[in-house]
Amino acid sequence: MNKPSESVRINAERCKACGLCIHFCPKNALAQGDENNAMGYYVVRLEDDSRCNKCGLCQIICPDVAVTVSGKKPKSE
Ligand code: SF4
Ligand code: SF4
Repeated sequence: MNKPSESVRINAERCKACGLCIHFCPKNALAQGDENNAMGYYVVRLEDDSRCNKCGLCQIICPDVAVTVSGKKPKSE
């Protein structure tokens, strides 16, 4: 079984710490990290993987394509 923590991956070098993914995560699972990348931005991290429901919103909303969510829930339309 995959750990939930492996479901959301942040590409640290792409993240500009805009905070959109943190703001829009419906489960409040993301947070500002305390490690900065080469551009000096504090990269977002998955704070509580047990809260993540793999909705994929953070991946969709990131303007810098820094987030990848594995095992996203299929969207019912
Ligand atoms: S997949 Fe959904 S619940 Fe999980 S961190 Fe991203 S926005 Fe939050
Ligand atoms: S939306 Fe993307 S660039 Fe903005 S804080 Fe989240 S991961 Fe970083």
